[in-house]
Amino acid sequence: MTLEQALLELGRPDSRALAGGTSLVDLMKLGVEAPARLVDIGSLPLAAITLGQSALSIGALASNSEIASNETVERLFPAVSQAILAGASGQIRNMASLAGNLMQRTRCPYFRSTDWPCNKRQPGSGCTAASGSNAHHAVLGVSASCMAVNPSDLAVALLALDAEVHLVGPSGRRSVPISQFYLLPAETPEIETVLRPGELITQVVLPRSELAAASTYLKLRGRASYEFASASIASAILVEGGVVRDVAVALGGLGVVPWRDRTAEAELIGKAIGRQSIERYCDALLAAASPTKDNAYKLDLARGAIQRCLDPDRARDDVTARGSSAE
Ligand code: SF4
Repeated sequence: MTLEQALLELGRPDSRALAGGTSLVDLMKLGVEAPARLVDIGSLPLAAITLGQSALSIGALASNSEIASNETVERLFPAVSQAILAGASGQIRNMASLAGNLMQRTRCPYFRSTDWPCNKRQPGSGCTAASGSNAHHAVLGVSASCMAVNPSDLAVALLALDAEVHLVGPSGRRSVPISQFYLLPAETPEIETVLRPGELITQVVLPRSELAAASTYLKLRGRASYEFASASIASAILVEGGVVRDVAVALGGLGVVPWRDRTAEAELIGKAIGRQSIERYCDALLAAASPTKDNAYKLDLARGAIQRCLDPDRARDDVTARGSSAE
């Protein structure tokens, strides 16, 4: 199948692209998704990982395992590799594609069961999580319609690294900053991205930078294996003489979309790095949070994780502690 043929097929009503199938097939088995047509795009030539002078291009069909173990990704964009390795089993990473990872749907249990009202699965039916169990739900970007967390670790890393998502569809090619790719639920939680009917992701492009090469991904979760994030941080910071030269922080596990606040980051730049300046950053970052009594713990988790990632003294202590325990 050629790209043109795939786009023609995807242009038909109620068609869905199928690559690794690790998310979509799961939801079809549960009766949550029931597309009229599946278009197998697995053989399209969209799996290359290519380093240019100013950016790295990762094809939409590159497997999560290929991306995580790619030497260039590990060296120039370590948060990407670390985020992928923090999610799912090796078997799933072997099957799952880059685009599939970005398009995976929420793990809200009420969405994944047809026994409960859910605005995202059945628009207008209600949100069971709002009055039900919501300890694992979002505290940022929520609306009365939906409070489900975006589950992708990879998207959080890509957001911190200013990735661009490249698309192709009936109207041609376009690219979208990943910061604009995901949509807040507002009144229409069933519409999750800016992807238009019949469009495909072709690649993700990551700009090279000193900041990107210094990036890391920290994931906090209820158990160490195959668990979604309670809070995760993709971060990078450049400090000179104790003063922040550049910084990027994206949050996972807290938002209905991967979350980043550049205004709060700007307040850190040019300031002495330390517990107090990071705490002020956290205050600004989390000011818009609307937690419930069951998920308010995520705010403390995020503050602790951000301190650990951005404070050079804390990071040094962690390394020392790891060294001691290894002796
Ligand atoms: Fe559905 Fe969203 Fe409510 Fe979960 S939080 S039940 S996905 S509307």
